[in-house]
Amino acid sequence: MTGPLHLDDDALVACVACGLCLPHCPTYRVTGREIASPRGRIAAMRAVELAGAPIDDAFRRAMEECVECRGCEAACPSGVPFGRLIEETRAALPAPRSLPRRLGEWLAFSLVLPRHWLLLALTRVLSVAQRARVLPRRLGLPPLSLAPLDVPAGGAPDVWLFTGCAMDAWLRDTHRAAVRVLRATGARVAQPAAGADCCGALHAHAGRDTQGRLLAERALAAMPGDAPIVVDSAGCGAWLKEHSDRVHDFAEWCVEAGVPPVRATGKRIVVQDPCHLRHVQKAHGAVRVLLGGAYELVETDDEGLCCGAGGAYSVMQPRLSRQIRDRKVEAIRRVAERDDPIVASANPGCIMQLRGAGIDARHPADLAAEALER
Ligand code: SF4
Ligand code: SF4
Repeated sequence: MTGPLHLDDDALVACVACGLCLPHCPTYRVTGREIASPRGRIAAMRAVELAGAPIDDAFRRAMEECVECRGCEAACPSGVPFGRLIEETRAALPAPRSLPRRLGEWLAFSLVLPRHWLLLALTRVLSVAQRARVLPRRLGLPPLSLAPLDVPAGGAPDVWLFTGCAMDAWLRDTHRAAVRVLRATGARVAQPAAGADCCGALHAHAGRDTQGRLLAERALAAMPGDAPIVVDSAGCGAWLKEHSDRVHDFAEWCVEAGVPPVRATGKRIVVQDPCHLRHVQKAHGAVRVLLGGAYELVETDDEGLCCGAGGAYSVMQPRLSRQIRDRKVEAIRRVAERDDPIVASANPGCIMQLRGAGIDARHPADLAAEALER
């Protein structure tokens, strides 16, 4: 850790520039630019950290265009910890100069996300706009429902369901479905008491590591005891797993607890693996076990290439995000052999990203709940 980015030199020099990660990088696939590839980004980090190159606009752009999907890390034979390198690099970048951007980031990361009541209040406004049909469909928001979740807050449950921020505000029906499936395994479920407003994953993804860690600690403290913590958002689960070994992905926990009886629905669904479930948690196999008894599962043929959602990436890098999504949608339609497939995706960001392109993306909890034997 000698330079301005405070990176681990050994991790940085572990890259042998073989290029095996390049086909797994969504930004390289859509741009063809070396600086938009993992190898190019590592070379740029090295130049800054070890050779005194400046942190200029080109460097910032190369780092901010990364989706942080970690497809490169999973593909790298040299074990380069790219996720850690990019997170630490983004945390070390100086604050952006643009005032609107600084204001927007402050509003999102410091004002709204840590205060769940405020996000819910804004969601009520969104919900009115949605009913009045003035919300653009490209936002990909599912029908908003803020009816209370029929689950106690706090206590001593068998299992906690972490409710979170955007997931609770915009996909609460999925929480409802998750509770039905968890209860069908025989478990007593509770949601966190006060304090679990947001887990901080979006903050960490945006280079706000300290803020992210504080939020994660606060969220975990709202679910005391030894009971497992189930997370039905792959990005949040990956981040919370870094802080507690009580954390399980929703499908992963259901498989460990024993998949409840389901009926065969006769429906075909395409399985889309969120990057943080596949490359980080490595728990994507559980989705197939959970849904395999009820649905005919179809795999994509792109080795889990990212969909371009990536935390706040679709907001910060809308053009690249759309280009990456278009490739994903093409891959989904190709294997489904139809234009209107149902897709299973275990991350709210990916669900909204795909819905914004007209794809009927649903959470595995919704699909499993629909197939539960009554
Ligand atoms: S990150 Fe890994 S796979 Fe990519 S070029 Fe470097 S050593 Fe090769
Ligand atoms: S994390 Fe994803 S977008 Fe970033 S360099 Fe690796 S593969 Fe490319």
